[in-house]
Amino acid sequence: MYLDRRECQESSPVKQELCEIQETPCMKVEESDVVGVPTMRIRKCNDAPVRAEGAYVLYWMISSRRLYGNFALDRALEHCVALRKPLVVFEALRIGYAWASDRLHRFVLEGMADNARTCAKNGICYYPYLEPVKGAGKGLLQALAERASIVVTDEFPCFFLPRMVASAAKKLTVRLEAVDSNGLLPLNATEQVALRAFDFRRFLQKELPKHLGGFPRANPLARAKLLPAPRLPRSIISRWPAVSNEVLANAKSILQRLPIDHGVPPVPLSGGHTNARSRMREFLEKRLPQYAERRNEPELEIASGLSPFLHFGHIGVHEVFAEIVRREKWNPEKLSLRANGSREGWWNMSRSAASFLDELITWREVGFNFAANLADYDQFGSLPEWAQKTLKKHAKDEREYVYTLKEFEEGQTHDVLWNAAQMQLVREGRIHNYLRMLWGKKILQWTRSPQEAAQFMIELNNKYALDGRDPNSYSGIFWVLGRYDRPWGPERPVFGTIRYMSSENTARKFSVKGYIRKYASEIPVQKGRSLKLERGLRRPARVI
Ligand SMILES: Cc1cc2nc3c(=O)[nH]c(=O)nc-3n(C[C@H](O)[C@H](O)[C@H](O)COP(=O)(O)OP(=O)(O)OC[C@H]3O[C@@H](n4cnc5c(N)ncnc54)[C@H](O)[C@@H]3O)c2cc1C
Repeated sequence: MYLDRRECQESSPVKQELCEIQETPCMKVEESDVVGVPTMRIRKCNDAPVRAEGAYVLYWMISSRRLYGNFALDRALEHCVALRKPLVVFEALRIGYAWASDRLHRFVLEGMADNARTCAKNGICYYPYLEPVKGAGKGLLQALAERASIVVTDEFPCFFLPRMVASAAKKLTVRLEAVDSNGLLPLNATEQVALRAFDFRRFLQKELPKHLGGFPRANPLARAKLLPAPRLPRSIISRWPAVSNEVLANAKSILQRLPIDHGVPPVPLSGGHTNARSRMREFLEKRLPQYAERRNEPELEIASGLSPFLHFGHIGVHEVFAEIVRREKWNPEKLSLRANGSREGWWNMSRSAASFLDELITWREVGFNFAANLADYDQFGSLPEWAQKTLKKHAKDEREYVYTLKEFEEGQTHDVLWNAAQMQLVREGRIHNYLRMLWGKKILQWTRSPQEAAQFMIELNNKYALDGRDPNSYSGIFWVLGRYDRPWGPERPVFGTIRYMSSENTARKFSVKGYIRKYASEIPVQKGRSLKLERGLRRPARVI
C-alpha cells in the first residue's frame, strides 16, 4: 500500500524503545472493519515517508476532539489495519494560545476526561497532555512522532491551528496527514469562496448529495480489532507526564495553578462528547419542533446550544445530521432536484428540521468555506467591496455614543438590553442567537470606526464565548459589517447601507424584560448615566 517505506534510521536508543513498545503479541485486524475515508478529506502535509517499522499510528487530536463520527480517527484506524500497528491517541492542551482561560481550559479538559474513559473502555492508548507552563510541551509531538509509522491530525481552517500543523509538518520526519471532519461538505469540494449564503446554499444543493453517502463511522472503536495498546517510552512519559485521570475528573483543582486568564471563570456547561450527545438528543426531542417559529425569542431557550461542542469537536455535524435523519425518517431520495438556493423545499423535512439544517449546514459551513480559502478571513479587508465602501464613507460620521473596550466589557452602555446580552456572554459564555446580532450591530454604532468595532467584537467574542475562535466567530462578526449580506436602505449615519438593527425594534418584536432582569439587574450604574433601552424608545428608561 505504501511505496515509500525505507529502512529504519532511528538512533539506537530510539530503536530500543521501539522494541519496548512492540514487545506485545499481535492480534488480527480486520480490514473490512474500517470504512474508507474520502480522499478529498485527506491532505498530505509533508513529503516525509510512512515508516513501516514505526511502533504505532499516532492520532494527534487537535480540533475534532471526539472518538465518534470522526474521519481523522477513521483514517488513523485505516493505517492501523494496513500497517498492522496499534493506535495512540494524543490529545494536548496548550497554554500559550490567545484567550486561554479557566473557561476554555475546563471545557476542553472535560472533553479529555470523556475521551480518556472511552479509550480505557476500548483498550486504546490515550495520552492526554496538559501543558503546565508556556513552551513545556515543545518537542513532545516530535518525540511521539519519532516512534510512529505515520501521524494523522485534524484539519481546522482557523485560529492558530493551521500554523501549528504547517510548522509540525516541517519538523516531523514521518508522514503527517490532516483529515477534514468539519462539515458535511468537504473543505476541498471547492476553492471558490461564497460571498452570499444564497450562493453557497445553491452550491450545496448541487454538490452535497454526492457526499451524503460517505459518513465517518459512528463508533469506530467499538468494532476495531486493534493491536494491544503500546506502552509509551519512559523517556517521554517522565519528561511530559500525561495528565492523570484524577485531575481530568476534577479539572477545577488544576486551573488555578496554570498561567492562564483566571478572570474568565468556567461556566456551568460541561464539555465532552457524552454531554454533547445528551444535549443534542434533548434538543431534538423537546425543542426542535419549535425551532422554526420561536428560536429568536430571547426569553426562550429554543436553539440547540450545540455551538461550543461543535467548535471544540466534542460532537460532529455528521452525528447531529444522522440523528435528525433518523428521527425524520428521511433519506436522500427525498431531496428536491431543484438547486435554486431557496431555503425552503430542498431538504423535504419538517419545517423546523429544515430550518435548523440551514443554520447547521448552510450557515456553519459557509464560514468554513471562507476561512479555508481566504487567509484574511479575520481582516476588515475581506469584507465585500460595497460594504467597505459604505463603511468608509460613513467612518467619520458623528457617533452619539462611543464606548471604550472596558465599558463594553463591563456592560456599561446606556442600553440595558445590550448590557444584558454582554453580561450573558461574560457569565455564561454565550449570547442568545438573535441578540448576538444586535450585540454586534450596536458595537459598530458605538465605536470610533468600523475597524475598531471589528477589533472589539473579536476580542469580546473570542475571550468570553465558548464557541469563539471559530470560522463562525468571523462569519458572525463580519456579517455585522456586511459579509454575506446586501445593501439595505435607507442609508444611515455610521452604518451607511449596512443592515441596521435596534434594541427598540427587538423589544417591540419580542419580550425582553425577563432577559434584562436576568442578566442586567446587577450592573452598577455609573454616576451621571441613566440606563435605558436605547434613545427614542417608547419603553420607560429605567434600571430593572
Ligand atoms: C456577532 C456574532 C458573533 C458570532 N460568533 C460565533 C462564534 O464565535 N461561534 C459560532 O459558532 N457562531 C457564532 N455566531 C453565529 C451564531 O450566533 C451561533 O452559531 C449560534 O448562536 C450558536 O447557538 P446554537 O448552537 O444554539 O445555534 P442553533 O440555532 O441551534 O444552530 C445550530 C448550529 O448551527 C450553526 N449556526 C447557527 N447560526 C449560525 C450563524 N448565524 N452563522 C454560522 N453558524 C450558525 C452553529 O454551529 C450552531 O451551533 C456569531 C454570530 C454573530 C452575529
